[in-house]
Amino acid sequence: MVPLTAQSFIQPGVRVSVPFGRGGRLVQGFIVSLSQEIQFAGHVKEIKEILDLQPVLNPELLQLSDWLAQQTFAFRISCLQTMLPSIMRSKAQKLVVTQDEKIKNSAIFQGQSFLEWTADLPTEVQQQLASWQKQDLVWMQYQLKNHAHHVKQLVLQRLDFDYAALLQQISPVAKKQRQLVKIFVDSDLATISYADLVQKYQISNATANAAVKKGWFVKHNQVRLRNPIATTIFDTKPKQLTTEQQNAVQQIISANDRPILLEGVTGSGKTEVYLQVIQYYLNQGQTALMLVPEISLTPQMVQQVSGRFGEQVAVLHSGLSQGERYDEWQRINQGQAKVVVGARSAVFAPLQNLGIIIIDEEHEASYKQADNPRYHARDVALWRGRYHHCSVLLGSATPSLESRARAQKQVYQLLKLNKRVFNQALPAVHIIDMRQTKMLSDYLDLSQPILRGLQTTLQKREKAILLLNRRGFASYLICRSCGFVPQCPNCDISLTVHLKEQRLLCHYCGFSQTLPQICPQCHSAKLRYDGTGTQKVERELVELLPTAKIVRMDNDTTTRKGAHQKLLTTFDQQGDILLGTQMIAKGLDFPQVTFVGVINADTGLATSDFRASERTFQLLTQVSGRAGRAHKQGQVVIQTYNPDHYSIQLAAQQDYEQFYRREMNFRHQAQYPPYFYLIKLSVSHKLQAQAFKMAYNIAKQLRPLLLAREQLLGPTQPAIGRVKQRYYYQIVIKYRRNEQLFQVLHRIMNDVQQDSRQGFLVAIDHEPQQLE
Ligand code: ADP
Ligand code: ZN
Ligand code: ZN
Repeated sequence: MVPLTAQSFIQPGVRVSVPFGRGGRLVQGFIVSLSQEIQFAGHVKEIKEILDLQPVLNPELLQLSDWLAQQTFAFRISCLQTMLPSIMRSKAQKLVVTQDEKIKNSAIFQGQSFLEWTADLPTEVQQQLASWQKQDLVWMQYQLKNHAHHVKQLVLQRLDFDYAALLQQISPVAKKQRQLVKIFVDSDLATISYADLVQKYQISNATANAAVKKGWFVKHNQVRLRNPIATTIFDTKPKQLTTEQQNAVQQIISANDRPILLEGVTGSGKTEVYLQVIQYYLNQGQTALMLVPEISLTPQMVQQVSGRFGEQVAVLHSGLSQGERYDEWQRINQGQAKVVVGARSAVFAPLQNLGIIIIDEEHEASYKQADNPRYHARDVALWRGRYHHCSVLLGSATPSLESRARAQKQVYQLLKLNKRVFNQALPAVHIIDMRQTKMLSDYLDLSQPILRGLQTTLQKREKAILLLNRRGFASYLICRSCGFVPQCPNCDISLTVHLKEQRLLCHYCGFSQTLPQICPQCHSAKLRYDGTGTQKVERELVELLPTAKIVRMDNDTTTRKGAHQKLLTTFDQQGDILLGTQMIAKGLDFPQVTFVGVINADTGLATSDFRASERTFQLLTQVSGRAGRAHKQGQVVIQTYNPDHYSIQLAAQQDYEQFYRREMNFRHQAQYPPYFYLIKLSVSHKLQAQAFKMAYNIAKQLRPLLLAREQLLGPTQPAIGRVKQRYYYQIVIKYRRNEQLFQVLHRIMNDVQQDSRQGFLVAIDHEPQQLE
């Protein structure tokens, strides 16, 4: 029996429980390095407990966390925690499975029932444990409760502890259920499917259910969704590459360390390039990491990767329960999964021996995290690429200006796919000037050309996509007598109608109230709710095209997990028109779609955001690119109030390079990225005057540090000046390279956070996605 001494487990990457602050409240910490001397001036407290027998973060991720904290101005602890599955973070020391998580419908995996081990051991087991030798066992019990499954087994081995024997002693427990506990203890799993229990372990559903009743396990179901997209469209076998694709694959695998920007027009077959590149690295015995903007919006991509590489693939997505996520993470950490597909946070997947990191649709805003730590997955990927000396491949039809500019400067290697796979022409785009065109009805902007486009498509038995740009179509309640719009009492924002729950909701603080029947201001009963824009369009379309099968995809129809997939499947099998918000613009590949209509191209252009043109160009190019992807020619009609705007004109011509030059000009003149870096610093306080004073003082400290042409703007109040009863002020800094500025910003962050009693919150968003 190996003696269990604390020292042997104290090593970098191990989680510990330590007392924190004056109250000595226990929090989870990480050992990041070992030192013989104490550098800290104050009183150093003891580690209370060690939570892992082996490091959960490897040297690479520890090093990365240090860099990340510097870059994002976040605490290192929040960077460390971000890298782990949430179940291993401090707040989730106990596995809490919410009702929401218990019943899930993940569309990506075929549905099954699962058993998930709950945090607590059976009480009988706990009692037994308590009577064992104290010292080691308290700790061990903690381990077991902490739900680190791989640790469980190690502890048992180290203690030379016969779990089976212990179970034998627990007389009231039925034999089969005892077996069930043992299965979980012996395996590294947090979840096992009912099917596996029956087949592999001869444990019946009844036994499992009985154990669930005792609270030892929770059962949750995944709804089975058939997924014909995968079977009807995709062939999982590698495709014969076109010359352009072949060339791209060659260049990528022979690139030495320099990141690659793959600029490929819509429908040029970027996915097949990714897949064959991944295959190459797998053959070399290496691993691959692939990021996609959002798993639920890109089911086709995930299915392609899973279909091609099968068991070797781990998919990290929000539809997984905490336990399942942990299991996937575990498979990656142990080297069983060689290919990881996931959204933003998957960039921290602990893959060893990385051969390639791919970021699909690299221009997508969702790669930037909005909360602490405010990192950009692209930057993290580039860091990991340098660490592993592996290639980083950024793919897009409409690269971000930042990436394209780096390619210009040869920091990235630029590769282009100029042709569509079957050499089809890009779709023909017609622009409709909404100022000059009579619309079909007074209350809805739908023009004759769009209607005709839809009719022709239906006649040909082909399919259409109709995009309604959501911004500007808020679902508010308005009093027709006095114009009153219900506001959130805590935030400067109108409340949103949620019809199904019959409530008004604030999307910023969660405040909610029942839907009023009469106006709270003038007591009129003429409260009106028009529904979201998409609902209106749907109603109109049903009248205009009574035989068409319309599939509507927006926030309302996709609240349930797996709903995206279901709707896409319906559209693929029996739909004629897919009507939706921005969420239908990306990555979808339906060969039968030949017509795309855009109802309102410009709501984004009206904002003061410096990326508005870029976003508009990307959206229109991407959505247009959904048409005519197979052998038929595509048609696109775009309605706009700004027909002459270059982002719309150039999107219609699908001329990325021209757009890039125009937009770079504007960015240069206005001193925006990629010519300058941006920092958005926001200060908030319960008292408006305090918030302003603090912001003003910070600005005063920073201004003298600015170098030539650098700017500091503000403090100003952001568009929504009050959220959750706190007032906000913000400062925007445009800088190029300024070490001193960085140091002072770090110091300011530290000072404010040291003195939390003053009630200030200061947040720094480095390279923000938008300024409002
Ligand atoms: P995008 O560049 O827009 O991401 P996709 O990767 O979705 O394009 O490819 C467009 C379509 O062409 C898909 O249906 C894909 O299966 C098909 N495709 C891609 N490469 C080939 C190939 N070499 N041979 C045949 N079909 C291909
Ligand atoms: Zn009123
Ligand atoms: Zn609110």
